[in-house]
This record gives sequence, C-alpha cells and structure tokens, in this order.
Amino acid sequence: MNRRERSLSLDESEYQLALILPSYSWPILISHMRILVVEDEVKMAALLRRGLSEEGLNVDVAGEGERALAMAGASDYDAVVLDVMLPGIDGFETCRRLRRDGVWAPVLMLTARGALDDRVAGLDGGADDYLVKPFAFAELLARLRALVRRGTVERPPVMEAGDLKLDPGTRQVWRGDTEIDLSSKEFTLLETFMRHAGYVLSRTQLLEQAWEYDFEHRSNVVEVYVRYLRRKVDVPFGRKSIETVRGAGYRLRKDGGR
Ligand code: CA
Repeated sequence: MNRRERSLSLDESEYQLALILPSYSWPILISHMRILVVEDEVKMAALLRRGLSEEGLNVDVAGEGERALAMAGASDYDAVVLDVMLPGIDGFETCRRLRRDGVWAPVLMLTARGALDDRVAGLDGGADDYLVKPFAFAELLARLRALVRRGTVERPPVMEAGDLKLDPGTRQVWRGDTEIDLSSKEFTLLETFMRHAGYVLSRTQLLEQAWEYDFEHRSNVVEVYVRYLRRKVDVPFGRKSIETVRGAGYRLRKDGGR
C-alpha cells in the first residue's frame, strides 16, 4: 500500500489538503476510468490531478464551468469533481447545465467551509454529493469511490399533471410550452404536490416533505409558499391547480387545473 502524507498551504483561504493515498478498492478497472476535475485554482487543480492520477485514474482538468460543459459534452466521464467557486458560471450553474445537457455522470461538489446553503443549493442543482473545504484527500477518494460504484445517475422521469410538467432532473417546470422560473423552495413544494397529485396533503405533511433541512417554525409558511406557487403556475395561465381543502390541507388537481 502506497501511503504518504503531505500538507500544503493553498490560496487565500489557506486550506490544507492532506494527501493520503490508499491505492485499493476502486470498484471497476481504474485504467478505464475518467474523472473531470473542474477547479480554477491552479495549485488545487494540480494537486487533484496528481493525487487522482497516482490512483491510476485518467484525469482531465477544466478551469471554468463553460469549458467543463464542452469537455463533458465531447467525452464520457465516470465522475465530475466540481468546485463551487469558479470564474464565469459557478459550480451550481455548471451542474444544472450538465444535467440539462444530458450529462448524468455523478457529481461531487466542493464547497466553501461550513456553507450549509451551498450544500443544499449544490444538491438542488443535481449534484450527488458534496465535500467541504478543507478536506482530506482520503475523504475525497472515499466519496468518489462511492459515487462511481453507484454509477451513472438514474435520470428521474418528468412528472405531469395535465399540462403542468416538472423535471426533477433538470429542475425545470413548464405550463404547456412556457417555462416557469421557481425558487428552490417553490420547486420542492411543487414537486411534493406532483408526487401526490390528486391527494390531500396536510400542512404538517408538506412541512415535513418540503422543509426537511430548514424547518421554519412559522405556522403560516405553507400558506405563504402555496400563494407564491399559485402566482407562478396558476394565475398567469387562468388555472386553479392547487386547491385548498378546508380543515385538511391542499391538493394538486391531477388534471393540472381548469
Ligand atoms: Ca475555485
């Protein structure tokens, strides 16, 4: 077993990357595996390239999101290591566009120290896992292994209620041919409704499903967001898809509203 440790001071945030290289237990023939690293910081990118190459992986590096999209479109990667802070479009947007372009390689997002919002936004954008800087290289390898073992992400099916459509993969919503721009929370709420179209959902059920990470102890938060949602998916189209069921909760009509 090839095992060593390095400690380096990197860029302005001075995070340290402990390079510990266990050279075993990759799930498939690693000489065939290709990893795309998206990182603009030269030192960090070089370290990742060297560390992963020493594991026997084929590594390509892109310094910005647009370049990563072009590279991922041109060849198949087994996984993408994607930094959030990039020049031009950031890591979240890069991830969203990868999925929109039909690239379903697992994505491991690298986020800033302790940024919980980053984490949620990263996973919302279609990332499969995240790692907070600074991290130990061994941890990166472990996460990457787990993602590669899981394989290409299963593309979730587009959900429909009448002419209201929601794509959980690309996080897009349409009424007919018109794309609707929803906030992260509005999207999650609508996704919850669409998964249970035709059924009455209580406020508590909606809170549990859609406010998993940052439960807000405001009794009217569901009402407020249902109102936002109606203003975007119903009102402009003259529809009433989200019905209030007195004393019980809300229901999304299966036909998408009339
Ligand atoms: Ca960066």
